[in-house]
Amino acid sequence: MRDIFDTHVHAVDLASTSDDIVRSMDANDVRMMCLIAPYKTIADRDFVARMSPVERMTAIRHLYKKNGRAANDWIARVASEKPDRIVPLAFVDSIDPDGPAELERAVNAGCRGLKLFNMGHYPWDERCWPLYEKAAELGTPILFHSGILGDNRNSRFHRPAEYEIVKQWPALKVVLAHLSWPWTDEAIATCGMGRLDGHIQIHLDLTPGAPLEWREDAERKAFEYLPDNVLLFGTDGKEIGDYTARVIREQDFIFDKLNIPADKRHKIYWQNACDFYGIS
Ligand SMILES: [Zn+2]
Repeated sequence: MRDIFDTHVHAVDLASTSDDIVRSMDANDVRMMCLIAPYKTIADRDFVARMSPVERMTAIRHLYKKNGRAANDWIARVASEKPDRIVPLAFVDSIDPDGPAELERAVNAGCRGLKLFNMGHYPWDERCWPLYEKAAELGTPILFHSGILGDNRNSRFHRPAEYEIVKQWPALKVVLAHLSWPWTDEAIATCGMGRLDGHIQIHLDLTPGAPLEWREDAERKAFEYLPDNVLLFGTDGKEIGDYTARVIREQDFIFDKLNIPADKRHKIYWQNACDFYGIS
């Protein structure tokens, strides 16, 4: 099996067993994955599809309230059954006043990271600060959605430069997903701020979003400009299925095309994620 750490995988329901998940990982040649707690079940998806547009916009927030605890507990339990394969990421509503307490509860239950998605607010919104404070205190890394594919209101809530606020908590380690496509130059510049003071807080994951040609161009710039330890591999796939294998094939293709040496590939596919999540 290859040393591949897929740092961005979404659980679609609370139904898969840890054995099912690991079987799919084996088939896809993936050694480790970060699995994100789902805020909605398959039944919820059908329910949301029948809602009015206005109701749909607030549905995620309500679903989180309804499902959050159970989803965080489920992900922690599944990961505890395969501790050498699955890293569980909790899902918390960043502006929920109960969010910091839920994060602490989820971390005590076994979650090792946090996935956040801005729902109608910017990441520098003051209502998010208590959660950042708590994540910094607990040493819990945050994976932020970033780039287009927003919250159905405005994708600009997820532009990379908006995340500069995290530098107010120097202990906080974060990843911006999708190379923040289409704002990839802005993502590289935001991440690259750490080049100047030597303190890298903002990492980037290479999960698709961008079409392949665009990804190749953006990754070339990222490889040339950024230090070796800030890029993480991820697929944004589901816990079961062969989409993962396709993204790995595409990433191998880009690495080959850009003549990226083996040691740098190893860092991006494996070592950087191990360092980021404190896995030895
Ligand atoms: Zn995602």
